[in-house]
Amino acid sequence: MEPQVPKVYDFKAVESKWQRTWESTGIYRFDREDRTRPTFSIDTPPPYPSGELHVGNALNFVYIDFVARYKRMRGYNVFYPQGWDCHGLPTEVRVEKTTGRRKSEFQPEEFLRLCREFTLKWIEEMRKDLKALGLSIDWSTEYMTMDPDYWRRTQYSFVVMYKKGLIYRAEHPVIWCPRCETAIAEAEVEYVSASKPLYYVKFKVRETGEDLVIATTRPELLPSCVAVLVHPDDARYTRLAGKHAVVPLFEREVPILADESVDPNFGTGVVMVCTYGDKSDVKWQKKYSLPVIISIDEHGVMNENAGVLKGLKVEDARKRIAEELREKDLLVKVESILTTVGTCWRCHTPVEILPKKQWFVRSKELAEKVLEEARKVRWIPDYMNKRLENWVLSLDWDWVISRQRLFATPIPVYYCEDCGAELVVSEDKLPIDPRFDPPPFDRCPKCGSQRLRGESDVMDTWMDSSITAAVHAGWPYAMDERLFPADLQPNGYDIIRTWDYYLILRGVALFGKSQFKEALINGMVRGTDGRMMHKSYGNYVAVREVLEKYGADSFRLWAALAAATGQDVRFSWEGIDYAHRFLVKVWNAARLASTYLTTGRVPRIEELSAAELKPIDHWILGELSRSITSVTKYLEEYSFQQAAQELVEFTWHKLCDHYLEAIKYRLSSGDRAAYSTLYTVLLMVLQMLSVFAPHLADEIYSLIFKDKEGWPSITVSPWPRPPVYDEKAASTGALAVALIAEARRAKHDARIPLSTRVKALHIYAGDKAELVKVLADDLKGTLRIDEVFVHTQGGGQRKVPEFPEISISLEV
Ligand SMILES: [Zn+2]
Ligand SMILES: [Zn+2]
Repeated sequence: MEPQVPKVYDFKAVESKWQRTWESTGIYRFDREDRTRPTFSIDTPPPYPSGELHVGNALNFVYIDFVARYKRMRGYNVFYPQGWDCHGLPTEVRVEKTTGRRKSEFQPEEFLRLCREFTLKWIEEMRKDLKALGLSIDWSTEYMTMDPDYWRRTQYSFVVMYKKGLIYRAEHPVIWCPRCETAIAEAEVEYVSASKPLYYVKFKVRETGEDLVIATTRPELLPSCVAVLVHPDDARYTRLAGKHAVVPLFEREVPILADESVDPNFGTGVVMVCTYGDKSDVKWQKKYSLPVIISIDEHGVMNENAGVLKGLKVEDARKRIAEELREKDLLVKVESILTTVGTCWRCHTPVEILPKKQWFVRSKELAEKVLEEARKVRWIPDYMNKRLENWVLSLDWDWVISRQRLFATPIPVYYCEDCGAELVVSEDKLPIDPRFDPPPFDRCPKCGSQRLRGESDVMDTWMDSSITAAVHAGWPYAMDERLFPADLQPNGYDIIRTWDYYLILRGVALFGKSQFKEALINGMVRGTDGRMMHKSYGNYVAVREVLEKYGADSFRLWAALAAATGQDVRFSWEGIDYAHRFLVKVWNAARLASTYLTTGRVPRIEELSAAELKPIDHWILGELSRSITSVTKYLEEYSFQQAAQELVEFTWHKLCDHYLEAIKYRLSSGDRAAYSTLYTVLLMVLQMLSVFAPHLADEIYSLIFKDKEGWPSITVSPWPRPPVYDEKAASTGALAVALIAEARRAKHDARIPLSTRVKALHIYAGDKAELVKVLADDLKGTLRIDEVFVHTQGGGQRKVPEFPEISISLEV
């Protein structure tokens, strides 16, 4: 008899074969017509087309796939869509770099055409990576947020929220990136701690002529100083409240005010209010109706209000004014302090606060309802809800959704040049690009003017991606209610404050509820050195490199085993190698099994009577039964690490090390019970393993089981149910396993090769003697021993660890 499973596990050939087969047979497509099975819908986060999938993205994707594959086997009609979150500044920057020309040197249409072209190219690359990971995506659902069809949906959502009064346009201080030259949302600010000089600057009190020293990290904002604040209980300064301070160099008088929120322990306890240094300035400006003096422009350059600093970049202006102050003896001292600086998450430039006319979502007004909806979501792990809550409570301002960029969804609004009316385009005229398309209005409905101008700002890309769950369900057209809210929203903890927050916020605004029921949160993948993975650290690993060396199944199994759900994962080649060795072990076991299980009919385990099965068969069925119960429970909880550990432990140690070794002699003698048991156990192991290693599972299934079971793929077979076994016989089987293991160690310690025959094994079993006698054949067959003697009296040289009342001796 020849084994049907080839000797070498050629993962490259196996994986690409099954990826092609799954796609061409369409077995992972969501069946819209099927109303018999329950649905399970996944709101797959559409990745940003960077052109390359790194192992961090891949972790998120394989987690999603574990769930999709498991749910499919549990009988769900699984909806696993795939989109691309195309828009964004990084694309604009890369197009500029690749072409060697600035955005301003292109016609906007030409620049946008290039952005689209490059995006398509990068998507093509990443699509290959996703397929190579063996993800069971329904590719017939693929969409791109830069497509007109998606624009229509994003713009539609804008119009609906505008009509509900949840979107408005106003002038308000916004966070501004001078490098990207656009407004950005609070979620896009990254706070970094940095050591900065703290300047102690001399002001004068006008009424008394005395010096008033103020410590600041931003002396270049002196031209924007509009007030000086002290704490009302600060005895050093109470007498000054109500008087005036004179701003040095600029000789402007500003009020000295007492305010509870001043920290008397920072610097000298006196703080200057500038429009705008930070968010506190915005608050104080409003509270005391202070004037607004802007001295920094959109490019991060000082303007005409800055006097001698005009034309200087912020950093240079800071040095320059420090020199001026020092020369005029207005600088008392400079200290170095550790402080946090808000920076743009895309380009890491320190951000400014500028008052700008922008579009906003009324997110503050919706905060309460967002928190309420977030509490109804099942968070995995559950502490992740706290992160969302903390974030929502930390937000100070409404969400600014307009951006001063090109490659994004246009805002569907025109303005009347005469009366200034905002003309929002009606739903039936979408999609529209007001930057290029003529207005869909004859005249201004307010004043009749025909002088209309299209909005040139575009939307934050989160406006595109915060409606994915609804769009996946078909919204706003033929909405499939079975798919909404999505059953699962899977993402990394780094985007809870964006992805999860914006999805819930928009869900509340548009539908009055969260767009998802469960949030599955994954950790980050760190480099082998434990640091976050970054190209600049030299610890970056592209998923393609791993797939090339080990294949998708090894990577997927490693990802499951590497850390608990939600925890960070440290990348490890050793870990991937371990997963690979396990898969080779399974392959070799299957190869052995295929020698016996592919010729002739293997009886179903149900066809055999309990007496036909040996105790060791009951034992392995009992162990399998427990494993299925555990793996099922863990997968229900999305505890992939525990599920995979259980599966590896069972397969490697119980099935391969013990059971297979113990039945080899029975297999070669044509033992029906051994055939049936091995068939059942191996098939059920492969079924469970197909969640993590689908290619290997399907390959072995097709070689040994397919013609008997008939499922087109093991990955769409019904999830295994724990097999029936006899508890009492199973515990006798456990005794056999322990005796075999100890006798083997005895042979090993006596330096006798396992293949060499020995004369006899003496077992001193006390009152277990009758049980042990039943096992004599298994012991003889497995251990190559001529005679087994079971004694009720006396003791042997070695104790059996699991049954210390039993001991053995070898007779060579
Ligand atoms: Zn920036
Ligand atoms: Zn008008």
